[in-house]
Amino acid sequence: MKRLEVEILTLFPRMCEGYLGESILGKARESGLLVVRVTDIREHASGKHRVTDDAPYGGGGGMVMKPEPLTAAIEAARAQMPGARVLLTSPRGVPLSQRLAGELAEHGRVVIACGRYEGVDERVRTAVDMEVSAGDFVLTGGELAALCVVDAAARLIPGVLGNESSAASESFAPEPILEYPHYTRPPAFRGMEVPEILLSGDHRRVERWRRRESLRATRERRPDLFAGLDLNDEDRRLIEADDDEL
Ligand code: SAH
Repeated sequence: MKRLEVEILTLFPRMCEGYLGESILGKARESGLLVVRVTDIREHASGKHRVTDDAPYGGGGGMVMKPEPLTAAIEAARAQMPGARVLLTSPRGVPLSQRLAGELAEHGRVVIACGRYEGVDERVRTAVDMEVSAGDFVLTGGELAALCVVDAAARLIPGVLGNESSAASESFAPEPILEYPHYTRPPAFRGMEVPEILLSGDHRRVERWRRRESLRATRERRPDLFAGLDLNDEDRRLIEADDDEL
């Protein structure tokens, strides 16, 4: 049975525990498909006050996370989980993507170190395998980015999502295309009707409608992704097709 093992290194363990204890991820932990340890970096800080941050060399505001406690926490995590991929959260990192989430799920063992304050002493980088960014914005800490990594990877582990097909048809998987729109009951809401094809019971037409909507959404909203798609003749026909041509 495939499973995902994760250790999150943070100064604020409770921030992570709430999110990871609920809903799909909470159930995945109960069933053993997802194993998460959340470690307080402070446990690896020395001295009476277990200090984890200090003023930056060169001056300027804010505090910088000292290299020793975080490096010690990373080394302890590596010893506990041999072969783990070790990530450091950073706005300077590789942007998190569906592809990276898939690679981490496949690898199965991940350690994620969360920065705080002004950031982390540069020398900690030598202890990690890669830096990962949640996107081009600045957070107050790495915990949300770490949770994004865990969430996106865990739901790719077989059995974590109730319905095995749901991860396969979504935005970005298996090709970088946006998902088609979803509808549920009622059939009319505030004058807006569910597209008639979805009510038709004709599964092949539904598939073609969904493919067309995926292609159109990607062309309109993410021209950058659309430019990289490898469309076949049927795709080129579908994207221009009216409902009665589906
Ligand atoms: N001074 C830094 C920002 C520090 S924010 C800069 O300008 O680049 C403090 C910590 O939050 C970082 O060390 C990092 O661990 C985390 N963080 C902030 N934004 C992030 C992002 N977009 N992705 C991943 N981690 C982020």
